[in-house]
Amino acid sequence: MIDPGYNRLSRVVSRMYTPCDIVDKDSVRIHNFIGGEFVPPIGGKYLDNIEPATGQPYSLVPDSDSRDVERAVDAAEKAFATWSRTPAAERSSILLRIAELIDRDLDKFARAESIDTGKPLSLARGLDIPRASSNFRFFATAILHTENEAHVTDGLAFNYTLRQPRGIAGLISPWNLPLYLLSWKIAPAIAVGNTAVAKPSELTPMTALLLAEVCREAGLPAGVLNIVQGTGPNVGSPMTAHPKIGTISFTGGTVTGRKVAEACAPLFKKVSLELGGKNPNIIFADADLDAAIAGSVRSSFANQGQVCLCGSRVFVERPAYAEFVRQFIEKASQLRVGDPLETGTDQGAIVSKTQLDKVKFYVDLARQEGGEIALGGSAPVPPNDRCKNGYFFPPTVITGLPVACRVNREEIFGPVITITPFDREDEVIGYANDTEYGLASSVWTQNLNRAHRMAEQIHSGTVWVNCWLVRDLRVPFGGMKQSGVGREGGEEALRFFTEPKNVCIAKN
Ligand code: NDP
Repeated sequence: MIDPGYNRLSRVVSRMYTPCDIVDKDSVRIHNFIGGEFVPPIGGKYLDNIEPATGQPYSLVPDSDSRDVERAVDAAEKAFATWSRTPAAERSSILLRIAELIDRDLDKFARAESIDTGKPLSLARGLDIPRASSNFRFFATAILHTENEAHVTDGLAFNYTLRQPRGIAGLISPWNLPLYLLSWKIAPAIAVGNTAVAKPSELTPMTALLLAEVCREAGLPAGVLNIVQGTGPNVGSPMTAHPKIGTISFTGGTVTGRKVAEACAPLFKKVSLELGGKNPNIIFADADLDAAIAGSVRSSFANQGQVCLCGSRVFVERPAYAEFVRQFIEKASQLRVGDPLETGTDQGAIVSKTQLDKVKFYVDLARQEGGEIALGGSAPVPPNDRCKNGYFFPPTVITGLPVACRVNREEIFGPVITITPFDREDEVIGYANDTEYGLASSVWTQNLNRAHRMAEQIHSGTVWVNCWLVRDLRVPFGGMKQSGVGREGGEEALRFFTEPKNVCIAKN
């Protein structure tokens, strides 16, 4: 049964609305999705769900606990027996239907994502939600085209590899790209026949709720996907500790990733960790400067800089440095910080007060470390009356900092970048690698040999040359060093969520 509050909520996100209009927020409760039903948390506790653009609560998110996780695990366990044996073609058609329904409800999903995260509606419409349906479509079709390896052992035996679903997958995702990242985990996990218990960030629960509704409509059997809403300590932690959840796919910060790894290790769980980044963006003097500047503005400030792949450390070869900085600042200052729901807004709100305070802390630290604030650096005038208490911060550019300082080494995860000149290729490779992270990097040059040399020597899971955020769902995705363990995407994800079993048949 869908809770009456849910129906109202669904209507509310269906139209362009002002969340502050919801006076009776008690009736707008988000529920967990367990065993195909929308259910309240067993403990009956809820947390305020705040709209970052207004700083006001507009709905209530379950503050679930280990009892809700237990209930979800029971449902997932029951569903596994049938789902894991459901033919791939049938699983595929359900996932394709989910993709179609997300596309059908694009506006509703995009509005919900924008309101929950503070990101511009245009970004949610153009990137987050289309990518979520692509994730389902991609893995729905991928499972129809897999191959099993076979190995012939001289005259002795014939081996083949069975790749079987592993059971219940625990999927934990962050707030910056809520549906984009959650569906990136759910789609491959259930496509190959696992059942799942998923936990979105408590800050951004809404599109997971809408996804649950769509999954039900698409005919996904009860218990295949269960969504438990709540905090990391109360829901994420019991998931990583649960003996029946044998697979954990986690995306989030490095500090949390370490806790997840610690919880999973003694239980020998299969774990994938997609963690933080402090990505270098390197511009050589021979680059197409217009393209490099446009790409760099995007890679610096997309989603208010809250993309793990954002290039927050910009290095520019000295002959191009002054001109790059001048043009970059000119372009970045044209980005319109505004109400996320308004057309024309380029930069929305930061996801939470805590995150906004973190961004401000690092800008203050940059001043203390000797940096010069070349753009931004303090809270902007609120874009309108509705957003007067929102969590806004403008695109901020810092120059003059040494490479080895905290601002250049620690992840800020906001609209703040540093720009530093360099003279030599080997020097900038040293700068790029001078961090504990290794998620992604960009190199802008017209010299192909140099591009190959850089790609070989930079320590990051992805190297983009003359582009940023070009994502092919087939390629391996993940980080080196403290940016993560394991790879997701394409074949890597299909392998991660399955158990390879060797069957050896003697040749008589
Ligand atoms: P967090 O690490 O704080 O949280 C990620 C998820 O883990 C949330 O759902 C959180 O719950 C949950 N969680 C918190 N504590 C625990 C725990 N002890 N056990 C299990 N789960 C827990 O990250 P943020 O949400 O702040 O996201 C930002 C971070 O994510 C950045 O560092 C960014 O770089 C990284 N990221 C990495 C990506 C990648 O692909 N490498 C992609 C996107 C982001 P809750 O918040 O509800 O308490």
